[in-house]
Amino acid sequence: MSPPPSWLVFLEREFPSANSVLVRGSRPLLIDSGYGSDLAATETLLRAAGTPPEALHGIVNTHYHSDHVGGNHGLQERYRLPIAAHRLEGDLVNRREPETCAGEWLDQPVEPYRVDRLLAEGDEIDAGSVTLQVLHTPGHTTGHLSFFAPRERVLIAGDSFHGRDVGWINPFREGVNGLRQALDSLERLDRLGAVWACSGHGPAIAEPASALAAARRRYESWLTDPAKAGWHAAKRIFAYALMLKDGLPVEEVVPYLLGTGWFPDYSQSLLGRPPAELAPTLLEEMLRSGGVAEREGRLFPVTPYTSPPPGWLAAVPWPRSWPRS
Ligand SMILES: [Zn+2]
Ligand SMILES: [Zn+2]
Repeated sequence: MSPPPSWLVFLEREFPSANSVLVRGSRPLLIDSGYGSDLAATETLLRAAGTPPEALHGIVNTHYHSDHVGGNHGLQERYRLPIAAHRLEGDLVNRREPETCAGEWLDQPVEPYRVDRLLAEGDEIDAGSVTLQVLHTPGHTTGHLSFFAPRERVLIAGDSFHGRDVGWINPFREGVNGLRQALDSLERLDRLGAVWACSGHGPAIAEPASALAAARRRYESWLTDPAKAGWHAAKRIFAYALMLKDGLPVEEVVPYLLGTGWFPDYSQSLLGRPPAELAPTLLEEMLRSGGVAEREGRLFPVTPYTSPPPGWLAAVPWPRSWPRS
C-alpha cells in the first residue's frame, strides 16, 4: 500500500466517532469532528498528530450525521473555528430545521453548531499549500461530500463507501432515489482513479478500485431486493444506538425500537412487516449474526466503542430546540 501524502493525517477512530482527516497545509483543516462525547479524545488526537486544535483554520464535514459532526459544537465554541458543509445540509443546520442531522429520527443527539461556508459541487477547499476538490456525492445523505486531491489521487470518501461496507441508505429522510444516487456517486468516484482512499469507518483503503467495485455490486443487488437495504440500515442504526446507550436491557429492546422514528419506517416500508412483528426478528437476527451479544440480561454491540458519560445524551437538545445560529 502506498502511503498517503505527508500533508494527510488519517485519524482512524473507534465508535461512536467516525474517522477524521487532518489536512496539514499551511492553513490546516479537520475533515469531520467525531462524536460529541468524544471531544476530549478528538483534541488529544489532534495534539498527538502535531496540529493542536488552536492551529486549525476550520472544519469541513462530509455529511451531517452525528458521528461526523459531533465535535463541531465544542471545537467551534472553544477555538472559533469556521465550519464548511454542503449547502443542502448547512442550510438545514442553520435554520434549526427539526430534521437536521436526522438526529431526532435516528435518536442520535448532536450539540448545536453553525455552518459558516455552504459548499457545492466544484468548489475547492484551500488548506494553504493543499487544495481539495469538493465532490457532491449524494446517496447516504442528500448533501454528502467527498474530497479529492487530483495531484496525489487521494480520495476522502466519508460514508459513500468503506473498505468492507457501504453507507446505509435512508429513503425516508434522504429521498427515495437515495440508492440510485449512491450508485451514481460510486461510479463517479470510481472514474477518479484514486490510488489511496479513506472513509468514515474502518481502516484506510489500499485498493480503492476493488473496494468501489464491491460496493457497487452490493448496491446493485439492493436495487432488485430493497429489503437488503432495509436490513443493512436497521442493523447499523440499532448497533449505533446500543453504543450510545452502552447496551440495553433485553426486555427494553422491542419497546425502544418501536418508539424510534427510524425503525417503524424501515419496518413498514422496505421490510414490509408490522414493526411490532419485526422488532424481535431484528434482535434474533443480530444475535445470530454476532453483531450483538447478551451479557447478564443486557444487549451489547460487539464492535469496540466508548459510550458517552452518564447523563450526556439526555442533556443534548434536539435540533428543533437548538438556539438560533
Ligand atoms: Zn459515519
Ligand atoms: Zn453517515
